[in-house]
Amino acid sequence: MIKGIKLWIKRILTTLFGLYLLIVGANYLYHYTQPTNDELDQYRVGFEVMYDKKVDYSIHFYDPNEPTSVLAYCLLLGGKGMYVAVNRDNWRKLTQDRRMLTMMHEMGHCSMNLKHNDAEFKDGCPVYLMASYIMPQYCIDDHGIGYYLSSLSIQEKH
Ligand SMILES: [Zn+2]
Repeated sequence: MIKGIKLWIKRILTTLFGLYLLIVGANYLYHYTQPTNDELDQYRVGFEVMYDKKVDYSIHFYDPNEPTSVLAYCLLLGGKGMYVAVNRDNWRKLTQDRRMLTMMHEMGHCSMNLKHNDAEFKDGCPVYLMASYIMPQYCIDDHGIGYYLSSLSIQEKH
């Protein structure tokens, strides 16, 4: 009797795990096959020119199911960038400077395999664009967007 119950629990868990993998797989396939969005493509071009890298993955918008502070994310598989997905709602609220920095941060993950680095200057500003949190505006103003763009190359050489 107990053996029978255990077998059924095992079957149910196996089915649930299978369903979970199916959902994750379908979601991945959806994002992987999205064409790069026209509005976002200019950032891909800018990134390729600035850092001399080839971007061979999709960059597109997504609409989150519930409000979140996430601006965008890069999916990495085995150190290779698979896609960059940008939260459409939050993107609309960003200034041009922030849009640029957000995209370069994500492609820093996806194309340079850069990890988050929360090193700070004495003024509390991030040293790198790859900080794990959203860059305060005064840091962009004080250090300059040019500095933060160049910080990707600085971090890559370290
Ligand atoms: Zn990041």
